[in-house]
Amino acid sequence: MSALPEDSALNRLHTPLAVLHEVFGYGAFRGQQGAIVDHVCTGGNALVLMPTGGGKSLCYQVPALVRQRRGQGATLVVSPLIALMQDQVGTLEQLGVDAAFLNSTLSSEEAQDIERRWRSGKLSLLYAAPERVLTPRFLAMLDSLHERGLLSLFAIDEAHCVSQWGHDFREDYLGLSQLALRYPTVPRLALTATADAITRADIIERLALQDARPFISSFDRPNIRYTIVEKEDPRAQLLAFIRDGHDNEAGIVYCATRKKVEETAVWLSDQGIRALPYHAGLEITTRQQHQQAFVDHDTRDGGLVMVATIAFGMGIDKPDVRFVAHLDLPRTVEGYYQETGRAGRDGEPAEAWMVYGLADVVGQRRLIEDGQASEEFKRVLRGKLEAMLTLAEAHDCRRQRLLAYFGEDSERCGNCDNCLEPPQMWDGTEAARMALSCIYRMARHGDHLGARAFGAAHLIDVLRGKRSPKVLQYAHDQLSTFGIGAHLSEALWRAVLRQLVAQGHVVTETEFPTLLLTESARAVLKGDVTLSMKRPREQLKLAQRNTRLPRRSNSSASGSTTTSRSAHDWIVEFDDAAMARYDRLKSWRTTQARAQGRPPYVIFHDSTLAEMAARHPQTPEELSTISGVGTHKLEAYGSALLELM
Ligand code: ADP
Ligand code: ZN
Repeated sequence: MSALPEDSALNRLHTPLAVLHEVFGYGAFRGQQGAIVDHVCTGGNALVLMPTGGGKSLCYQVPALVRQRRGQGATLVVSPLIALMQDQVGTLEQLGVDAAFLNSTLSSEEAQDIERRWRSGKLSLLYAAPERVLTPRFLAMLDSLHERGLLSLFAIDEAHCVSQWGHDFREDYLGLSQLALRYPTVPRLALTATADAITRADIIERLALQDARPFISSFDRPNIRYTIVEKEDPRAQLLAFIRDGHDNEAGIVYCATRKKVEETAVWLSDQGIRALPYHAGLEITTRQQHQQAFVDHDTRDGGLVMVATIAFGMGIDKPDVRFVAHLDLPRTVEGYYQETGRAGRDGEPAEAWMVYGLADVVGQRRLIEDGQASEEFKRVLRGKLEAMLTLAEAHDCRRQRLLAYFGEDSERCGNCDNCLEPPQMWDGTEAARMALSCIYRMARHGDHLGARAFGAAHLIDVLRGKRSPKVLQYAHDQLSTFGIGAHLSEALWRAVLRQLVAQGHVVTETEFPTLLLTESARAVLKGDVTLSMKRPREQLKLAQRNTRLPRRSNSSASGSTTTSRSAHDWIVEFDDAAMARYDRLKSWRTTQARAQGRPPYVIFHDSTLAEMAARHPQTPEELSTISGVGTHKLEAYGSALLELM
């Protein structure tokens, strides 16, 4: 390195790490971020595969700033959704970065102003959708920047949109291959959270990234705790789940139908939990309002639950969603992973929780069989559902299975329900035989009475010897299997039946919820196979989540100290004074967020405020060492924050 002092000072300012500290206020790169940033800063092309919350944005934002400082010009970020652009630009503006977006929400004056800044090469990052980027007008601007050596980098976000295999295919993404042809010397970086091999190959081919270096991160989301429980009384179970530590947090509850979304939202509200519905059948303005309320949610005002169909979530970057609950079984593991992945993007502990029962298995299978899909496609759908069922029925580590599904080997995780509280297994062979033979007898008996619509509830009544009107009507109390299972609880029978159906020994006829035996049931009936079954859990009481976010302990003991142990290995003691500081900081943030019309997390994350409250900084220098406090925020907010200490 040359000896000029100015030079070295300049170089120090222009390193990725300097930008990370100074602009973002973060101490270190995460995972592969550092390697990616280095590669791109030196002009390499890259393909970045990283899970949601992995920190993809920094992978192009830091190089954009480094290259801008080195006089290499501006970065174009191609992004598919207006909401995503606005969120990113809002966050960057808070950091004092010169960033903007061009989209249909702008007035023509605003757009002209931004275009002017962009053409001058002074803007560090410009966000735009592909259809805009590919217009002759925009390409002419790119040409001009390029000729002047001011076109520094292309970042193509949500790059899986280029693949027809993905669910988010966007025709306009195909045209982005032009960028490679027109500007071969400008580095390109494609980013996605969609992992599978077909999509990856598509991205490389269609965006002409053959020479790009792939950076493939683990898809594990270690801060998310996975739990799948038997469906007993789903609403009560949901309520208990939310009340047990999530009542002041933001979360999403997914339901399969619009009707259920509406009903669940009303019901939660009746229970005193603020909940809003979201589905594609709602009026657009209502939908937008609800989405905005969720994004703007302030943890100071208590919890907020978005009850939604899967129409909700794409394009929501909210980092502090603390839980995602499923009241219905997703159709695929991919869907489950994408939906649950919306929890805990900020890296703080979060939960993915689901209730699941026989009706889910039956309902999902019926949807496939009754659907209009070709036989070939149905086979694919069945396979995907089976994988989801295997995950739901699993009695070993959920995360290990999830990652294995995506082709990744891993160890037991220690942070899923099955790891934390291994399910009790029992030999269900005898019970299974009772159930199967009862189904067999009911069907024959029913035949001659002209009725065969016997579902699970009726079967359990017969097994447990309950003389219900229906049992009497069909004289099922005369069956030799009547009452043979009275010693087992209803819940246990439901679990037995669900496992039999999930394993394919029993199917349900499509028109009525009638249970029928399959070929494989024969071996079970004959006693040729042993069935090890999971005992339904009474009440799952998992250990307290590790968290950096303080919570007021519910115990009445005053002056008690809450100790939080972090996922990032620092320990905070929240005595009353720290808690009071935390509350003051949150109030201050609320005022700021409202005044600026920004979501609170754009001002500071909860974890940043918590660290301030805990470490109690007294000087600007001390304040600047807190994660999430960069130069610009220190200047803008430092004195106000220190006054609150
Ligand atoms: P993705 O786009 O991959 O879902 P983001 O880029 O939105 O993830 O990052 C998720 C969160 O993690 C953001 O709140 C971001 O500020 C934070 N983050 C990313 N990288 C770091 C880092 N190196 N140190 C601290 N926080 C980080
Ligand atoms: Zn596990």
